[in-house]
Amino acid sequence: MNLADRLKNDPFLKRLSDLLGEREAYVVGGYPRDLFLGKRSPDIDIVVLEDVRKFVEPIRELGPVDFRFSEFMTAKFLFPDGRVLDLARARRERYPRPAVLPEVEPAESIEEDLWRRDFSINAMAISLKRTNFGELIDPTGGLEDLQRGRIRVLKEGSFRDDPTRAYRAIRYSLRFNFSYDSLTECEFDLARKYVRLLSFPRIENELRRGSAEERRAEFFHEAEARGLFPWEHRKPALKELKDLDGLLAERKEEDWILFFALFLPEGPGVLEFVHSLPLEKPEKKALLDFLGLRDEEIEMDPGEFHLKHGKSAEEALLVLAAFRPALRDFILDYLERKKKATPQISARELIEMGFTGRKIGEILKKIKILRLQGKIRTKEEERSFVQSQLDERSGR
Ligand code: ATP
Repeated sequence: MNLADRLKNDPFLKRLSDLLGEREAYVVGGYPRDLFLGKRSPDIDIVVLEDVRKFVEPIRELGPVDFRFSEFMTAKFLFPDGRVLDLARARRERYPRPAVLPEVEPAESIEEDLWRRDFSINAMAISLKRTNFGELIDPTGGLEDLQRGRIRVLKEGSFRDDPTRAYRAIRYSLRFNFSYDSLTECEFDLARKYVRLLSFPRIENELRRGSAEERRAEFFHEAEARGLFPWEHRKPALKELKDLDGLLAERKEEDWILFFALFLPEGPGVLEFVHSLPLEKPEKKALLDFLGLRDEEIEMDPGEFHLKHGKSAEEALLVLAAFRPALRDFILDYLERKKKATPQISARELIEMGFTGRKIGEILKKIKILRLQGKIRTKEEERSFVQSQLDERSGR
């Protein structure tokens, strides 16, 4: 099958092909898959059969804003429109043990490189070589699976070699509304068994990618149901995960930690668990803030709540709203009020009115609480409140 006609809509690839001339190069993975699905893949994975360094000069003629070599015989180019081109040498992989990174060596053919991939729908290549530009290479039957709506691994033991593929399978099945073939379905049992051998950062990376998906609540739910949370954890209902999704303004990878919070185990040991995780500071804070609120008795007064929990990360409050639906309206209202609760009177005005030192901060804090409670709404009301404090001090 030749796809040259379909590639016309993407002049970038045609130009790349012209620059590469008679060199053997293929666009693989997500790009061909998305082309058949009628979508334009933002990123381009190119596989070549020689040293990638030989390809750097022609690709640089396309005007990347940045380029660097990375691990496993690969190079990355970033283009002004945000497109990323990954250049890699065809390779074969050997997994010495389950769930470890593979030993890699150059492959002799594009077919060999395609057979080492995760699923048939991701194992198609399109030739960029000038003489057969657009030719589809599909040794594993990826196009048929794509047409049938099927996620299919390419060999038995695929999820033992690399259990991250199980998270990937869920992502694709939800994104495209595809089902798993029977072998892939069995592979999930292997993933369940070997996932605990993955390092936390590798699992985090998969949860991040899941968090960028449209159906991310379902992604987290299915990942848990298939045993891909290899720590002691609670099992949030799908509704809880969907509620959290609805509370977050936009979909982004960073939100993974908020979904993760809903899986934190109940009972003793949870703090130790959170402290043991290799996380960035703000991520750890979001989890700890949420834990600080999770089982607390909450007084539904925005002023009181602010005094106790005003320093909690806003994200932690959103997780709480999903976790305890009875608090949802109160929390959303508190967050709205908080936006408008900054005192309008300045410290300078307070000094002019006779306040000094610590007292200034105290007054401003009181004003904030009163604004949160709706007892002060305007600057005028702030002034009369300050005046009343002065009167109180002078015993008037
Ligand atoms: P997405 O749209 O999710 O980004 P993608 O296909 O571009 O999909 P990448 O993670 O960028 O996904 O990977 C590029 C290609 O590399 C995949 O299409 C697949 O062929 C291969 N691949 C990625 N991860 C694995 C893995 N864990 N095991 C085997 N092959 C993989």
